[in-house]
Parts: sequence; structure tokens; C-alpha cells
Amino acid sequence: MSYGYAGKVLRVNLTDKNIIEESIEKYSHWIGGRCLATLILSQIPSLSSEEPGDQPLVVSVGPLVGTGIPLGVRTSVAARSQISGGVFYSNVGGDFGTRMKMAGYDAVVVEGKSESPVYLFLKGATAELISAEYLWGLRISDLQQSLYEKYTDNDLSFIGIGPAGERGATISCLMVDQAHAAGWGGSGAILGAKGLKAIVAMGDRQLPVFDSEGLAQKSQQLIWRMNNSEALMTLTRLGTHGMVAAGGHNKKVPTSVNNLKDEFLPSDENLPLREETYRPWEVARSGCIGCGIRCLHKYDVPSERHGNIKAEGMHANSVRGLGTNLGVQNTEDVLMLHYLCNEYGLDVDAVSAVIAFALECADHGVLERSQPGEVHLQWGDRSLVELVRQIGERIGLGELLSEGVHEAAQKLGSGSESFAMTIKKVGVNEGSMRSHKAWALGIITSTRGAGHLGGSPQTENRRISAEAGQRILGNPSAGVPDSYEGKGKLVAWTDCLKAVIDSLGLCYFAYGWYDLSFGNLDELAELFYVATGIKISGKDLLERGLQTHTVERYLGYRLAGFSRKDDQPPVRLYDVPVSAGEYQDAHLDREMVERELEAYYAYLGWDVETGLPTEGRLIDLGLGSLLEDTL
Ligand code: SF4
Repeated sequence: MSYGYAGKVLRVNLTDKNIIEESIEKYSHWIGGRCLATLILSQIPSLSSEEPGDQPLVVSVGPLVGTGIPLGVRTSVAARSQISGGVFYSNVGGDFGTRMKMAGYDAVVVEGKSESPVYLFLKGATAELISAEYLWGLRISDLQQSLYEKYTDNDLSFIGIGPAGERGATISCLMVDQAHAAGWGGSGAILGAKGLKAIVAMGDRQLPVFDSEGLAQKSQQLIWRMNNSEALMTLTRLGTHGMVAAGGHNKKVPTSVNNLKDEFLPSDENLPLREETYRPWEVARSGCIGCGIRCLHKYDVPSERHGNIKAEGMHANSVRGLGTNLGVQNTEDVLMLHYLCNEYGLDVDAVSAVIAFALECADHGVLERSQPGEVHLQWGDRSLVELVRQIGERIGLGELLSEGVHEAAQKLGSGSESFAMTIKKVGVNEGSMRSHKAWALGIITSTRGAGHLGGSPQTENRRISAEAGQRILGNPSAGVPDSYEGKGKLVAWTDCLKAVIDSLGLCYFAYGWYDLSFGNLDELAELFYVATGIKISGKDLLERGLQTHTVERYLGYRLAGFSRKDDQPPVRLYDVPVSAGEYQDAHLDREMVERELEAYYAYLGWDVETGLPTEGRLIDLGLGSLLEDTL
């Protein structure tokens, strides 16, 4: 099993500073990346601890990372969610996964907590804990700068936390270098409670692959096909920002408006947030290590409102969540809000949801409009920039909001719960849930709470033809946004595919999402084979995805009690239709959602009444160990 893998899983206990290595052979069934991270997590009893410092966190990369296969760059993180109480996975780009693997490790498991701040340093297949007293309190760009100064080497990358995580903000995330966020579960607060500022990896070791000639050939073919894919060329040209935010490439993509009250904005109101408005400030394109698509923008803005802003990594969710969902129309304000989220290590989607919640609370008199620090709770107000600072530092109103929408609503009471746009307690920042049915179902059923990077396919956004839908997915309605037909099954399949892609370490933007032709499971199995020498069929690969998704679902049930009753959108999406535009009157239909939920569970082999895997199903899937009372 040495081909394609670095060969080692590192286990670090921060309490007693014990560091041990395990052979990756021990986990041979579990591919790597998200699949491996989820399995390891499920085996650690302290996962059920209520104390984030005592909970484990796993960082893992897949077998295709660092092999030279295009876009084999992604890193998975798995831990207990500080927001939902269940588990979450993050999948993040940047250089870290490649560097970690080249430094000698396929996965790092962190347990316990350190009495004083440390960082974990990986290089040359050795690991060392180093004092991080001098790094504690630094924002992400200063952390990067400081590490670059200490290790004058270009081969360094880190995954770490900013001040928000250090201070225990539930909606904090991990950052890979300056521009890549691993969000969704408050992972920043976990590392903060552990006293672990970062994992730093320096690596340039060549990774052995099984068939280097075959791999080079396949890589060449993939690059050629990617260069000729209309969808991926659009991604190269516009990034996700230009593709799907502020109206997107066709000026028709819906957005979230003022705490999900609507999905429609007139085009003149979208204009300040469109990608072309930012283009004059673009100084470079950026991306993950070795990726030719380079879907990220680097901006340098001489802003009179905020001073010079040097921002990178703004994806569609920042534009939607920090722009239209908060009523922010000022181009520079959106960029500054995004920049501050990255600097403090805050999860953009969660920040969007909790500020939108606060603004609606102010509209209904639950919160005062005027807040300390000259924060004015008004849609689109410039002082929302100050509010993000307060969330990052956990001061003023930011202290309450740093706990996320659900917790803030619980504490505020006074009817504020009806302004809390959450699924499984996780704040929602989404733009097409009324109008795009499979998209919505993917978010509703997400094991980590909300979020479309799981079961939500791009088929509706891409409007794939009935012929392509039938040929590739066996569903001629796959590209029809307003149709529920076959969408439950499509979403369940997409959930499994996404778990496969995350486990291999590939970037989902190319492999299967924006261009379905790169999500062919037999082809993915061939890539796995040339890298590792391990023969597996596309069907078996999909079964690994199903296993991963099932473990995550079951852990959500065991830890937080999540089941079918929790697979529900905010009621606003049923009751308040889109006001105008191409999707005027669109809303979710309760009966149809329930019908497709049943189809979703049935495809996965879960019980349709409870939405949970039965004991028998867990045993069939080789997951019987989950039934032991270890958590
Ligand atoms: S497409 Fe974007 S996110 Fe994916 S690997 Fe390339 S630069 Fe990274």
C-alpha cells in the first residue's frame, strides 16, 4: 500500500505531548481524505465530550494528493461540530495537504489540550511540537508572515486559526494559508481550546506512485479535457464569484436576499457585486498548488473607506453571504467583510447567517439598532464591518453573535427564533433553495447541517439537457430546476460521489460538479489504480462514499439525535415565494420534499421512516463497530 500514500498516520496528544505514528496499512479499506478522517473520528471515545479541548480533530489527505494528477490538492478535516453537536467535515484547497503529505503524513489526529500555545511542525517525516506563545493572537496574514520569516522556505504551508478560534468563537474556522477556509463546524474553536495555533508542514519529498507513466499519460489527457471543458474554462475565467454570484455568468442565478427573505434582486442591485466590477482591482489569479484552473482572485484595493485592502480567495458564498444576504451593495464593504473573516478565521457562511439574523431582530425590536462600537444594525450599513471585527474578537454584540444563529436565538428569545435561518442548528447562506429543488434537498439533508457542498448537484444550475441527464444520471429532469422528479435519488448519489472525491483528495469543482464528465466513477477508479496499484471498481468506490456518508449520518444521530425530523429547511422557504424575476413564485412544497426525502433514504438503504441507517444496514456496510457503545 505504499504507492500513492506517504505511509503514516500521526497521532498527537497535546496533553502529555505524546506523538506516535501508525502505518497507513492499518486503514487500508478507507481510501484516505474524508473517508479516513471520518472513520478515525468514529473510533475515538472522546468525540462525545462536551469540551472542545478534549475532542479529537482529524486532518487527512487522499491518495491522489501530491501525485501530479491535476487538482489532486484537497485536504479534509473532520471533528465534532461546535454548532450542531453532530459531526462535520470540511474540504479545503491550498497547498497544505500536498505539503503535509510530502512532509511524510497522510493524516494527523490531534487529541488532548496543551497548557500553553503550541504549533505542530512537520518536516522530513518527523513531527515536533513548538511553542506558539509568540504567534498567539496573530491574525492569519501576520501568522503567515511570521512563519515565512522563521522558515525561509517556499515549501511551507499551514492550517491554523486566527483570533476568533483562540477566543472560542463557535463560528470560527481553520484557514489554510491566507485564502482557503475549512469551515462548517467551529473547528477554529476546537484548536483554540486545544492551544494549537497551527499545523505547519514543509515538504518536498517525491511521492511514489504505482505507474508513473500511466499516471503522466492520464494527467495529460485530463489537462487537455479540462482545457476544452466549457464549464471549467468559465470557472477559470470568472471563478465561482463570476459563475454563480450576483446573478452569475448568465445574470439569472438567484441569490439570498436579506436573511433568505427572497432570491431575487434586480440586475442594477446586483451590479456592484458582480465579478466584473471587481476586475479593475485584480492583481493576480491564485489557486491551489499546481492547479491550472486557478479559480481565485487576488485583489489590491486602494479603498478610501477602509484603507488598502489586499484580499484573496473570495468565492461566491462571500459575495452572496456578505453582500446580498446582508443588503450590502458597496463593493469595497463586501471585500472588506470577506477580508476580515479570513483574517480572524471566521466561517463566512456562519457570519452571514448570524448577522442577517441580528439585522432582522433589529427590524422587529428584539435587538437595539444602535450597538456598542457605533454598530448600526441596518441592512447594508457600513458598520457591519465593525460588527465582524467584534465577532472575531468576541466583544460587544460580537460576543453573542460569535456563538452562531441557533445559540444567539436561544439566548435572545422574544420570538427571535423565527428569524433564525438554520438547518440542524447551522446557519444557512444559500441562494437557490426555493427555485432549484435538488440543490435545496442537498442542503436540507446535509449531515453537517447546512451547505451545498455535499448532495447538491450543479445539474440544475448548468441546465444539463434531458438527453445528458438521462445518459449520465438516468434522470431526464436532472437539469430542470423546478422539477422534483428523481431529485431525492440524484442528491443521494451526489452525496456518495462527493464523499469519494473528497476521499481521493480531488477538487470537486472540476471532478463531477461543474463538469459531470470528470465524475465518472470507473475513470476515478483508474486514477486511484495508477497512483496506488490498488484495483477497485467504480461501483466499489461509490460504496466507500456511501459508507463515509452513512458514518457521518449515524454519528450525527448518536451525538446530536439528528434524524428525518431534522432534514427540514427554514419554514420561510416553504411559505414565502420568490417575489419576481425568472423564478417568481417559486417556493418549496412540503409534500414534494417529503416524497423526495423518502426516495433519498431509500437509495442509501436507510430507514425511510426515521431517515437513519438501521443496525442491519450498518452491518451490511461493514460499519457494525459503530454499534458498540464507545461514544
Ligand atoms: S479549481 Fe480552484 S479550488 Fe479547485 S484546485 Fe483549482 S484553484 Fe483550487
